[in-house]
Amino acid sequence: MSKPSPLAYLSEQVESFRAGGTYQRLRELESPCEPISRYDGREVINLASNNYLGLANHPKLKEAAIAATREFGVGSGAVRTISGTMAMHMELERRIAAFKHVEACVVFQSGFTANAGTVSAILSKEDHIISDELNHASIIDGCRLSRAKIHVFRHADAADAEAKLAALEGVPGRKLLITDGVFSMDGDIGPLPALVEAAEKYGAIMMIDDAHSSGVLGRNGRGTVDHFGLHGRVDIQVGTLSKSIGVLGGYVCGSKDFIEYLYHRARPFLFSTSHPPAVTAACLAAFDILENEPERIEALWANTRYFKAELARLGFDTGRSETPITPILVGQAKTAHAFSAALFENGLLATGIGFPTVAEGKARIRTIVTATHTREQLDRALEILERTAKSMGILRVQPMGVVG
Ligand SMILES: *Cc1c(COP(=O)(O)O)cnc(C)c1O
Repeated sequence: MSKPSPLAYLSEQVESFRAGGTYQRLRELESPCEPISRYDGREVINLASNNYLGLANHPKLKEAAIAATREFGVGSGAVRTISGTMAMHMELERRIAAFKHVEACVVFQSGFTANAGTVSAILSKEDHIISDELNHASIIDGCRLSRAKIHVFRHADAADAEAKLAALEGVPGRKLLITDGVFSMDGDIGPLPALVEAAEKYGAIMMIDDAHSSGVLGRNGRGTVDHFGLHGRVDIQVGTLSKSIGVLGGYVCGSKDFIEYLYHRARPFLFSTSHPPAVTAACLAAFDILENEPERIEALWANTRYFKAELARLGFDTGRSETPITPILVGQAKTAHAFSAALFENGLLATGIGFPTVAEGKARIRTIVTATHTREQLDRALEILERTAKSMGILRVQPMGVVG
């Protein structure tokens, strides 16, 4: 008799995903990430990427990456603090700091490590974190790693956040108020002016994760702090180089001493190798484009407004989205995954998202338009969405001839 595998319990879990209709096979991208991409041998309209400005396959970024590889090779050879800090790493940090109007910036390997590494480095057991219930997983993990007490406030509810801060008045320990700028599943914008006021009133550290707002909101895509005119009032701004910037990485912006502290204490910075030259050079090229081609961001918003208006006209429930992230709510996770699969068969890629990524009963497909989708592609996407939703009973078929 063969011994049972000690990992057999995981096979049971995977089986339960299949039974529940939430099992996902990874789709294989066989072309560059573009408005029309090829996945699993099929050309589809891609509404599932974070490539907001179309930079992931931009000739200038590709040329910069190739030139940097020719000159500097494919790897940095070490973590930043040992011998892996290249001149271009420092140049990118200075460039981002100037762009964001802050004293200093540190670049991490990803947005995930930027959040997790920062929160865990600056707080400890005695401290308190006041965190929006829909904050990104990387923030949640950073909070847990810090071992500080976590006080979750109702989504986008600044009054609840303030009440949590008020209840902690006089309690020892530092307080950190933390929120996403734009929420990745719903596409709504956090109530930042009210949160910043609450943080100031109670002397809390204010931290904003602008992963989905950099390159999208604010002048030339400077993010939510710029969008709301909050310069100088937000202690910690996180951004990613993996979404609108089109490459890979995360960054943290703030005061010079705060960034110096992270150089000494943020564990992903200390214990994980720095970006290869191709990545850093491509990011630098992306900031040139942000500064010199604001028309890309205008095109992104024109497409966003058009697509949202048409979805509403068709009768889809798009929740509380205010940005290019537009969910279409369908209820159960199983429905969302079936809808996504049927859309793919009909030529459209939009991810199905269910519990536990979003609350039970709030499953959705998520769509993200980009600056580079043409009007014709968006019209085709809308036609596929309408036809598929009607055939599945997600959208009601209007009776002919009835004016309502
Ligand atoms: C995507 C995302 C991250 C992680 O960024 P990566 O660079 O992909 O690791 C962090 N925070 C939020 C809100 C995100 O949406």
